[in-house]
Order: sequence, then structure tokens, then C-alpha cells
Amino acid sequence: MFYRAIILFCLIVATISTGTKSPRIVIVGAGASGIAAAAKLLENGYEDILILEAENRIGGRVNTVKFDDYWIDLGAQWVHGEKGNVVYELVASLNLTDHSSPYEDKVYTSTGELIDPVMTKNITDIYLQYMDSVEEITRVECNRSIGECFENKLNNDFARFPEVNETLKEQLLWLFDIMQTSYDPADTWYDISAKDYFEYVMCDGDQVINWKERGYSTVFDILMKKIPNPEEELPVLNKTILNSEVTKVDYSTEDDTVKLTTHDGKEYVADHVIMTPSLGVLKAQHETLFNPALSESKVRNIKNLGYGNACKIFLAFNDTWFNPTGSKNGGYRIIWTKEEREKLDSNPKTRWLAYAIGFFFVEHKPRLLYIWVSGKGARLMDDVTDEEVFDQVSQMLYNMMSKNYNVSRPIAVIRSKWHQNKHFRGTYSYRSMETVATNSSATQLAEPIVKNKKPVVLFGGEATNEHHFSTVHGAIGSGWREANRLINLYAKKK
Ligand SMILES: Cc1cc2nc3c(=O)[nH]c(=O)nc-3n(C[C@H](O)[C@H](O)[C@H](O)COP(=O)(O)OP(=O)(O)OC[C@H]3O[C@@H](n4cnc5c(N)ncnc54)[C@H](O)[C@@H]3O)c2cc1C
Repeated sequence: MFYRAIILFCLIVATISTGTKSPRIVIVGAGASGIAAAAKLLENGYEDILILEAENRIGGRVNTVKFDDYWIDLGAQWVHGEKGNVVYELVASLNLTDHSSPYEDKVYTSTGELIDPVMTKNITDIYLQYMDSVEEITRVECNRSIGECFENKLNNDFARFPEVNETLKEQLLWLFDIMQTSYDPADTWYDISAKDYFEYVMCDGDQVINWKERGYSTVFDILMKKIPNPEEELPVLNKTILNSEVTKVDYSTEDDTVKLTTHDGKEYVADHVIMTPSLGVLKAQHETLFNPALSESKVRNIKNLGYGNACKIFLAFNDTWFNPTGSKNGGYRIIWTKEEREKLDSNPKTRWLAYAIGFFFVEHKPRLLYIWVSGKGARLMDDVTDEEVFDQVSQMLYNMMSKNYNVSRPIAVIRSKWHQNKHFRGTYSYRSMETVATNSSATQLAEPIVKNKKPVVLFGGEATNEHHFSTVHGAIGSGWREANRLINLYAKKK
């Protein structure tokens, strides 16, 4: 009896001491940021970790799915850059990725006229060079929106191309507008701040590194250490509960713990919570999600940092008619006249089409084309069914390409629906005109809620990354940042 009591006493002491060594950490969201935070904490010996994920899968805005015979990405697809890119640093030696060059694309009108490739290349180069030097230019020259700055600049440059008449000029500017809103998903490039644009720091190197036959979700196996050695896999998945939407984050408690409630009424208590839902989710739900309400400063940042949409449509074909030379990378951009756009806009079912940038090859997936629909167009698509999308893009492709190619009808279509999904409400963040006007920033968004010198609610996610927002590497960096905040906190206490 005495020995049993001693054993029990030892067990209690062990439990208490483990409890103090390993605080209870709940991570809300199993996207790139949440998984990265969990992996970092586990690697550093923090065992009492739980991830609550609203969807029925991990990955968040990285969503690799099977389509036709291929793995495709409905969300993040490419590693953007090499130097200083944490994803590239993780994969560089693993032979899992491939470079994008050479890249070839052509510009067609919606009725199938090929625009002189030399001229479009020269003009696109001007646009791209301008983008590359945008930091310097916007600092010095332009305090307005990207649209205004670029329009002025391009209008001057167009003078060098006498073959560009007013109609073509207008068409090209529209193309550049929707290309720009594919990077910064505002409704138009007039909503993107030029002044703040230089906050995004591009990682030098190839901007469109692909995952060969795989998809971007491979990065999770790498973060969890299943790749390269399955025996070293960290138990992140065992600590994740799917289909668990957090509906309340209550940090009003007197003992400085945080109580979380999920949609099915379950409750969890944590010493620290790392929030990683998208800025879109925070915009829509912060008022009901947090108790007490978030500070004025936090709400200002949530409201005024930009967050928008994009949509990807993949088409599968029985053949590869669109790429007779077997180009590794490239595709066909489309330009609409103003009249065509107005006609599309007059019908709620077709108005999204003018925001489709074109049809592009998918690296290592030769029978696929994808269409990128920018900014406002991705939202307008909510009114259109998958069947309608299929018919509309098939017709658009036929009109655009049949003068030059033996166009076959696609055999299948799949499209992303990020805007419709309440766990995302869009694609990624950007710097809007309001961001600058209100002096909002990712750094302020990232500030934790501190009680008695203890960060109780921490904020991760791509939108909290000052320089690499809108990317997977930015999301991972933010997850590591918040994990390190806690690791450093407990290191100081030791
Ligand atoms: C179409 C598209 C294309 C992209 N292309 C690229 C690209 O090529 N390269 C690149 O680097 N980046 C790209 N991105 C951006 C990149 O995908 C994101 O920046 C990154 O994945 C965001 O990760 P995150 O962890 O911050 O957020 P998320 O991935 O959104 O993770 C947050 C998680 O929280 C969950 N959640 C939300 N609310 C709750 C709740 N109340 N309770 C519990 N869980 C909740 C969500 O379900 C989600 O799983 C793209 C994104 C999209 C949508």
C-alpha cells in the first residue's frame, strides 16, 4: 500500500513537472503556418500541442488534389524564388522540384488574332522591368496606386510603338491590370498601393519553381520530416483534430489561460493559442470569434490590410493539341476590347470571363491547361455553376485558338472556390490604398495579445509576414516566428 502511494505520488509529480515544462499550446488552423509552428514546437520538445482545423484535411490554401491522371494544385503551386525562401532552402537538395524556364507565351484577341509576338514581348518586358524596379520607382516617383503609376509609365512607353493603336493600348492595359491583380488580388490595380508595394521582398531566383509530378502539399511531408526519412516523422498529424472549427477564443479568464470552443460545443483550455486563419476569416469573424473584443489597433489592421481573390480552372484533354512543340512552360494570354468587356459585363453569368488572363500549360502535366481568373472575376464566378464554367471556357478557347490550332473539347474541368469557403474567404493578402491611408501593417497584425507579460493569443499566417506575405514561404516563416516566440519565452524562464 505504502509503495503504491509512493508510485502515485511520483506519477503526480511527473505530470505536474511535465505540465510546467510543456505548456498547453493550441494552434488554430492546419495550413502552412500552423503545421510549421507545430513542427517547430515538437522538434524543440514541446509535446502538449493540439491543432484544431476547420476543414476535413490539412493544408489550408495549399490543396493538392487528383484530377484526371495528375496531382494538381487548386491553391499554391509554385515556389516563388530561391534566395531567402525557406521552402526553397528545404527542398533544394531533395530533387523534388524543377525550374520553369524556358517560358513562351503568345497574346491572342478573343476572336483568334495573334498579336505580333515581338511587339508584345517588348511591351511585356517594359511592364516586367517596371515591376522589378517598382521599389525604387514608387519611392521616388509615385505615391498613388500601382494602376496610376503603371498607366502613366506605359502610356509614355507606348509612344515608341507606332503599331499600338488606341484600341490595342486599352486592351494591353486591361491585360496588365488583371496580371497585376493576380499578384495582389485587389479588384483592380487602382486599389493596390504603390507606396507600400515595396514591402513585398522578392526572393531572388526562379519565381515559378514547380513540384514536377507532385503538388505543393509535398512541403508538409518535408516540414513534418516524413521526407527524406519517414522514420523521423514528427507526430503533427496525431496532434491534429480535423472538422473542428473554432467559434470562440475566450481570453477573458482570470488565470491567463485561453478557452476555445469549437462548432460542435467542445471546449479546450490552453496556455497559449496561435491563430493562423486567413485575414479573410479574421475580417469576417473577429467580432464574434474573440472575447473580449480585439483592440482598436488590431481591428484597424484587420480591416485595412488588403485581402482578395483569384480562381484557377484546370481543363483536361485527351491530347496536347495546344502545345505541338512540347514547350515546357507557357501558354496563351487573351486580350478583350472594351466593347467585348462591356458586353460580357451586361450578363451576370459571363461578366467574370473578362478577368481570365489566358490558358497556360501545367509543367509535367502535359494534357492539362489552366486558366487564372483575377481579382473581382473570381468573386463574380460565384454566380456560375461548374457546368457553365466548362461550357464558357470551352467556347472561349475555341474562339481564341481555332484559327490556328485543331482545337479539341476538354474532357474534364475542376475549379477552385476559395472565396465561397468560409474557412478562407479568398486567396491572399496585399497592400491596398487603405493599408497606407491607415498606416496598417503586417507587423501590427502579428502582435500577440499579452496578459501579465505572457503572450496568450499569438497571430501567425501569411498576412502577418511583413515581407513575404501572400506566399507559402511567408506562411511558414510566420508559423516558425510564433513557435520561436514561445520557445524563447520558456527558454528565458529556465
Ligand atoms: C489560388 C491560390 C494560388 C496561390 N499560389 C501560390 C503560389 O504559387 N506560391 C505561393 O508561395 N503561395 C501561393 N498562394 C498563397 C499560399 O497558398 C498562402 O499564402 C498560404 O498557403 C497560407 O497559409 P496559412 O497557413 O497562412 O493560411 P491557410 O492555408 O489559410 O491556413 C489556415 C487554416 O486555418 C483553418 N481555419 C480557418 N478558420 C478556422 C477556424 N475558425 N477554426 C479552425 N480552423 C480554421 C483553415 O481551414 C486553414 O486550413 C496561393 C494561394 C491561392 C489560394
